[in-house]
Amino acid sequence: MIRVRFAPSPTGYLHIGGLRTALYNFLYAKQNNGKLILRIEDTDRTRLVSGAVKNLISTLEWSGIEFDEGPHKEGKFAPYTQSKRLSIYKEHTNLLISNGNAYPCFYSQERLDTIKEKDIPSDIITKYDRRYRDLKTDEMLERMQEENHVIRLKIPSDGSIKINDQIRGDIDFDLSLIQDQIIIKSDGYPTYHLASVVDDHLMEISHVIRGVEWIPSLPKHSLLYQAFGWELPKFIHLPLLLNEDKSKLSKRQGDVAVEDYINSGYLKDALMNFVALLGWHGSDDKEFYSIDELLDNFSIDRVRSSGAVFNVQKLKWFNQYYIKNTTNPILLNLSKKYLPDDWDVTESMINLVKDSIETLSDIKSKLSIFFLYSTDINKNTIDQFFNDKIFTLLNEFIIEIDTKKSITSDDFKFIINTIKSNHSISSNVWKAIRITLTGNEIGPDLAKTVEILGPAKCINRIKLFLSDHAN
Ligand code: GLU
Repeated sequence: MIRVRFAPSPTGYLHIGGLRTALYNFLYAKQNNGKLILRIEDTDRTRLVSGAVKNLISTLEWSGIEFDEGPHKEGKFAPYTQSKRLSIYKEHTNLLISNGNAYPCFYSQERLDTIKEKDIPSDIITKYDRRYRDLKTDEMLERMQEENHVIRLKIPSDGSIKINDQIRGDIDFDLSLIQDQIIIKSDGYPTYHLASVVDDHLMEISHVIRGVEWIPSLPKHSLLYQAFGWELPKFIHLPLLLNEDKSKLSKRQGDVAVEDYINSGYLKDALMNFVALLGWHGSDDKEFYSIDELLDNFSIDRVRSSGAVFNVQKLKWFNQYYIKNTTNPILLNLSKKYLPDDWDVTESMINLVKDSIETLSDIKSKLSIFFLYSTDINKNTIDQFFNDKIFTLLNEFIIEIDTKKSITSDDFKFIINTIKSNHSISSNVWKAIRITLTGNEIGPDLAKTVEILGPAKCINRIKLFLSDHAN
């Protein structure tokens, strides 16, 4: 049975790289009739952020990634939150101490800091002198009662270890570069290494799919599995996400929180499609994938090892594509949170602007022509586009539509062209009409805009405009 997990630390938001990890795990589980587990890794008490887990779960729910087990679900391996599993880690640590694979270390933090500063030339890896590694059992137990301590895993001081990553093949690690790893901190909480290995084993995880930044932890994890006498799961490390300048994707250069993308109005399908391609592509040049198509096409074999550039322009391009291909009622619904409550937005308004927006948050400014109007237009523009003939045309247009309840875009073009020819107006009048009706020089299709505004609003606006500018 394939069992995979997404194991975020609740740092306050879901990182875009985390969303990719969750997605690849989800696809892999679903393709193999396996199970996807959500596990909250909250053992770093210094980094706790209140509300983070709730936020994480709701963002994952938004993404459509479904978990089979997790803190928000039932499951036979519960609890799925590490801070609720402390007794399990303690029990396992005792096992390691009694089988001679782990030991308490009584160095104070000051002593460790001194070792770091004094003894070690900066060009070689920081290592401490393993003084407490071979204490006699009696002394060890007695001091454990009385002194502050951490628990360390014994790492062989030389030799190497080979571990397989399914994307990169076998990787060799030089053990002399690794210090005796802390597995229980002085606050009694396990470190990530211990907790994740114990949980991956107890939760029967078959494949560990996670970011490449965890490769350096592999030898520690592998030695922990050995110390417990457990079988290793398969490891798959996903490529690093990079900024455009090839540095590691960072908050400094743009948004990394999935919530920020949701809030700016990226559609779920666009974001998921984009994220799926951060490190994976299909066998052809296909770019657009629905979740169902990803389920058919995704394969771990085609995940590459080199970094994947996060190109926000490409994300915008995906978003535009998905917006264009979303039906008007759905788009109207999704847009509501970006629009003032008292704007009575219709599907035809959405239809008119949907091709010109990159994100849903653009929609408010695009639709403002229907709800906000001002005749405050600079004099140069008036001089450039308006003259007496245009004012005559506008007045006649009012007369023509005065008794109408509605006006189609074809009616509008016909009426204007008729007035033009009656008065032998050969100049381009459309820009002037647009400015009169919307207060803007640019905007969506004018005839359709007029159709949506309707005769009454058009007349009101023209009258206001003429009273301010035609004198
Ligand atoms: N808690 C780790 C993180 O937030 C998970 C690493 C792993 O998947 O093993 O990245």
